[in-house]
Amino acid sequence: MPQRETTLTEFIIGEQRKAPGATGGFTALLNDIRLACKRIAHVVGKGALAGVHGRTGTHNVQGEEQQKLDLLANDIFLSTNEWGGHLAGMVSEELEHPYRIPAEYPRGRYLLAFDPLDGSSNIDVNVSVGSIFSVLACPEGASGEDERAFLQPGTRQVCAGYAIYGPTTMLVLTLGRGVHGFTLDREIGEFIHTHPDLRVPEETSEFAINTSNSRFWEPAVKRYVDECLAGRSGPRGKDFNMRWIASLVAEAHRILMRGGVFLYPRDERESGRSGRLRLLYEANPIGMVIEQAGGRASTGYGPALEIAPQGLHQRTGFVFGARREVERIETYHRDYNERPYDAPLFAARGLFRGANGG
Ligand code: MN
Ligand code: MN
Repeated sequence: MPQRETTLTEFIIGEQRKAPGATGGFTALLNDIRLACKRIAHVVGKGALAGVHGRTGTHNVQGEEQQKLDLLANDIFLSTNEWGGHLAGMVSEELEHPYRIPAEYPRGRYLLAFDPLDGSSNIDVNVSVGSIFSVLACPEGASGEDERAFLQPGTRQVCAGYAIYGPTTMLVLTLGRGVHGFTLDREIGEFIHTHPDLRVPEETSEFAINTSNSRFWEPAVKRYVDECLAGRSGPRGKDFNMRWIASLVAEAHRILMRGGVFLYPRDERESGRSGRLRLLYEANPIGMVIEQAGGRASTGYGPALEIAPQGLHQRTGFVFGARREVERIETYHRDYNERPYDAPLFAARGLFRGANGG
């Protein structure tokens, strides 16, 4: 039999054939998502040549400043996915309410939630950005224009993934049977199945957190980071490296490829109490990918995918990566939930002594 590379389309059709009762609608939906990502990759790759860099002067529903590319990527996602007839509704980071699919298009049985451009504040400095997507089944009898249809825990996702627009464009996908990576071959215009069965490495000595928030961290997070920083002579008995890209997709991709742990925990700021990342179109899809790759996705206190969402743009603390590392962080949250952390082991050398009052 002649050997040749497998495309994303072939992979999806192959998966569909394995799933009893699956219909072609799901395959067609994924083809549209794939096309949206290719279109966004094209615009992002043009950079300043496309004349779409810079801010719009407007803010989204979460009060974040919108970049021109945020809105362009949002339009691409909506217009590429609205016509196919497979969706009952769409929710985007950039829209306050569910998107109303134009009346001339048929409705389907799936719901799509997405962050059209993740890490967009990094666009002007040419750092990797991405798109994140989550597919849910629309509950029987529900309207995809009603936000309650989308308020399902992440465990109910039927598919999730992201595209990363870096030196190469990749699409990383899970249909609930492992995680697969596809690299865009620009000459033939197709994603090629280059990374079958991705697994988060079990051992790690890398962590990613925004330490400029350290004075607001909860005791469990202070302890975890202090212990990493203590290195070989500390309780972990090894040196750690720190990474911080400030682009969720890029952080998730690094952890999928070579391991590590990421923390954007809830903290003690008024604005940080419920965390920073959005549950429906950031934490849930990234969490499903990480868990399907053998890692763990948590709020710090428990499984992120089990949260019952209360709102479309609900935020959550988010900790994910190597399973045992995340479980350790959850243990610290249980230990220090009720009492202050006074850095007993590191009083002399804790970087965050001031914040601990020690
Ligand atoms: Mn984002
Ligand atoms: Mn975004």
